[in-house]
Amino acid sequence: MADGAPVMTFDALAARAQFPILSRQVNGKPLVYLDNAASSQKPRAVIDAMAGAMSGSYANVHRGLHTLANETTEAYEGARRSVARFLNAGEDEIVFTKGGTEAINLVASSIGQSIGEGDEIVVSQMEHHSNVVPWHLLRERRGAVLRFARVLDDGALDMDHLASLIGPRTRVVSITQMSNVLGTINPVAEIAGLAHAVGAVMVVDGCQGAVHLPVDLKALDCDFYVCTGHKLYGPTGIGVLYGKAEALSALPPYQGGGEMIESVTEDTVRYAEPPRRFEAGTPPILEAIGLGAAIEWLSAFDRAAVEAHETALYQRAFEALRGHDWFRPLGTAPDKGAILAFTVDGAHAHDIAQILDRYGVAVRAGQHCAEPLMSRFGLTSSIRASFALYNTFEDVDIFVDALGKARTFFQ
Ligand SMILES: *Cc1c(COP(=O)(O)O)cnc(C)c1O
Repeated sequence: MADGAPVMTFDALAARAQFPILSRQVNGKPLVYLDNAASSQKPRAVIDAMAGAMSGSYANVHRGLHTLANETTEAYEGARRSVARFLNAGEDEIVFTKGGTEAINLVASSIGQSIGEGDEIVVSQMEHHSNVVPWHLLRERRGAVLRFARVLDDGALDMDHLASLIGPRTRVVSITQMSNVLGTINPVAEIAGLAHAVGAVMVVDGCQGAVHLPVDLKALDCDFYVCTGHKLYGPTGIGVLYGKAEALSALPPYQGGGEMIESVTEDTVRYAEPPRRFEAGTPPILEAIGLGAAIEWLSAFDRAAVEAHETALYQRAFEALRGHDWFRPLGTAPDKGAILAFTVDGAHAHDIAQILDRYGVAVRAGQHCAEPLMSRFGLTSSIRASFALYNTFEDVDIFVDALGKARTFFQ
């Protein structure tokens, strides 16, 4: 190795062996799971952590004075510490939600209380519906104006257009770190600078970014950052809202209930400090514990080596397919992660996906919760193969081969 350079090592087969589901068969074929951008599979560490919590120590959190309550509270808060370390954030800056969608709704709904007629919210054409519809609600309910930064033909964000949309009326800029369709990685730190220059709040949708890229929220300097458990090799039903300490303190509550108050009387209520202010009711305890386990598991790998492995999978698939005249890739921006969306000339995306399934290959077909993006490219659907750390070159070869066969059905 060159002096000082980190040693890049990642053993995909060893990682893969930790996922029980990946050794099953589908339609008589070995499973090739390439639907990771929709949800990823779970390693033994996560399954064991959740089962262990249920069979070993379980009670409701925070209000208990007995051993099981204290142990479960410690496990739940331990998961918060794991998330904080993973994102380089403070523990009190981490709010557990039920998913990525709820985290963005929390921000939009709470910020929305101070949004008025004509206030502007800037998103991009490549946002997931979760980062579009909550802002549409503010357009409908508060008279906010929603502006969409354009996407260039290669799938990169049009930074000049984005910069031109951010001005004195901008209150919120909310942009994805990595597109769930194009794979495009956006310069979110730079965009946060543009937002802050006009006093706007910067929200980053990290639902894909946190899976594929090392995240350092101190360096990124956004006000809010969102990610979700089930794409991070953790369970469903758990998401994360990071809010910078000042930003969270300034935010009014989202839902009311137990645990989020300091005190309540017949005519007054005092809210708890963050993060508790935003965790009304019994939280997703087991899911948080599962997410904590997933993050500890993922953090044990050399993340740069994992990213290099995933990129190599994408490259292998792209190189094998790019020469075919029927293959139309969607998203070839210079900075992109391991997601390959495409269409096949003369064949419907859903038909291709169904035929691939017969070969044991799981891909997604449709709009990928990104209808504005699909319209931008004049499409109603596309096929998406998305890679995870447990995928192998063999997976890629089986996918490419099956796609070639599927395609011949439509000649
Ligand atoms: C999956 C996803 C979401 C929504 O997260 P959920 O936890 O499924 O609600 C939001 N944004 C992006 C970019 C996503 O990929």
